[in-house]
Amino acid sequence: MKSRAKSLKKIDSREKTAVRSMAKIVLARPRHSNPEGKRKGHVTIGIVAIQGDFAAHAAILQELGAETVEVRKVRDLEGCDGIVLPGGESTTQLQFLKEEGLFDAIRKFSRKGGAIFGTCAGAILLASEVRNPPQESLGLLDMTVLRNGYGRQLASDVFYGPSTLKQEPLEMVFIRGPIIEEVGEDVTVLARHEGKAALVEKGNILVATFHPELTDDTTVHEHFLQMAVKGTAKAAMAR
Ligand code: GLN
Repeated sequence: MKSRAKSLKKIDSREKTAVRSMAKIVLARPRHSNPEGKRKGHVTIGIVAIQGDFAAHAAILQELGAETVEVRKVRDLEGCDGIVLPGGESTTQLQFLKEEGLFDAIRKFSRKGGAIFGTCAGAILLASEVRNPPQESLGLLDMTVLRNGYGRQLASDVFYGPSTLKQEPLEMVFIRGPIIEEVGEDVTVLARHEGKAALVEKGNILVATFHPELTDDTTVHEHFLQMAVKGTAKAAMAR
């Protein structure tokens, strides 16, 4: 009995320390320890914050009215309706996700119907097959990607390409992005660059080989938020 009380006390003080150290973040980005505690109608997006431009994703999503949470531990996913896997270096990110148990947690999140949006390195992590060189991945979207596929010189620039999400061409910023070489039959292509799929989706997974968070155009993030809302509704119905 005594030892149980002791261990409860321990958890209590650990929680308090965590709450105190997170207080700054809480002000800007509310966290929810349980989904029921969320404000009704609010969408919360967890952004994997290891490296890369996660802050730019957060800024756009907040501008669109979503709440955002920086994800570095499995427990950060609690209460999230969607996850963003930002750009960066996919090899480094893969290693981190594995070390933190996030690799399995993200796959589980997807199985439950949670929406996931991968940009650039995030796209590589979501692919079912990675080439140049081959690399392990979450395998949540049926597609083959070629890392650094556009070549080093031509790889980083702004382009405009056709998209089904809007009438005007979509602005696409490429930074050593992968090429989507092949997609499964039931994968929908939402935008193209040089004839190649650059924005694709299937079910609750959205993938961009470019960086929509680095432009003023919110079209892609708006689309993702709609997916997140739908995914959450489905998960709620299945409960
Ligand atoms: N070239 C990187 C990789 O292979 C991706 C680049 C990016 O995310 N901007 O992981």
